[in-house]
Amino acid sequence: MVRAENVHKSFGHLEVLKGIDLLVRAGEVSVVIGPSGSGKSTFLRCVNHLEKINAGRIFVNGDLIGYRQRGDKLHELREKEVAEQRRAIGMVFQRFNLFPHMTAMGNVMEAPCRVKREPKARARERAVALLERVGLGDKVDSYPAQLSGGQQQRVAIARALAMQPKLMLFDEPTSALDPELVGEVLDVMKDLARDGMTMIVVTHEIGFAREVGDSLIFMDGGVVVESGHPREVLTAPKQERTKAFLAKVL
Ligand code: ATP
Ligand code: MG
Repeated sequence: MVRAENVHKSFGHLEVLKGIDLLVRAGEVSVVIGPSGSGKSTFLRCVNHLEKINAGRIFVNGDLIGYRQRGDKLHELREKEVAEQRRAIGMVFQRFNLFPHMTAMGNVMEAPCRVKREPKARARERAVALLERVGLGDKVDSYPAQLSGGQQQRVAIARALAMQPKLMLFDEPTSALDPELVGEVLDVMKDLARDGMTMIVVTHEIGFAREVGDSLIFMDGGVVVESGHPREVLTAPKQERTKAFLAKVL
């Protein structure tokens, strides 16, 4: 489902990703951990081409992201073609980024109506179903300011799901939340995982990684230092850097 091959990304002289290889099979949940500045967010942003990579290739569902390959040469896709690829990829950020002037339902309907030109009635029906799925059936008419952080984040997840993505990317979806609100968002993510959604999740929630992760990836300094089944990486890390990091977060 997701295959990253030798992905490099620099900002000016700063090389942030130094050859990332990663494989996520359909229906699997990959959890990415690592210290601040290790390139986790940058990598996620490369997967949906919010950042252009300098070398390497990323495939999602067999699609080469951002490029068309002819022979050995890669040709950049047009903005419209990139947008098409992005539709299959939902992203949820640390900050909820909801439209403040729209209700929960309005937020969830927005992309299907605008991008897919879905009829209003149909979009509304699906929005209600999605909001029910994330436990917000009673909040469809609430505005973001009237919702808690956990509720807003669940609306953000419903909004991403409204485009019927094949892959969901989560970038520290719970780290801006008060501790008592973290569980409700993780529960929604666990449900999604159980339903077979393919997910890459950057998080500090090690319990989540242990419970639902099919693989755990430890990044540091722009490389994958170690990856494997969460149980193995967490209980018997092979690399010193992994051990040192886990000693701090566990
Ligand atoms: P955190 O855990 O703090 O979110 P991270 O692992 O997600 O960290 P990134 O946000 O990917 O790290 O950043 C990796 C490095 O790239 C950092 O040194 C950061 O300053 C740099 N960086 C990220 N985005 C840009 C940008 N648009 N321009 C210049 N440098 C950037
Ligand atoms: Mg980050």
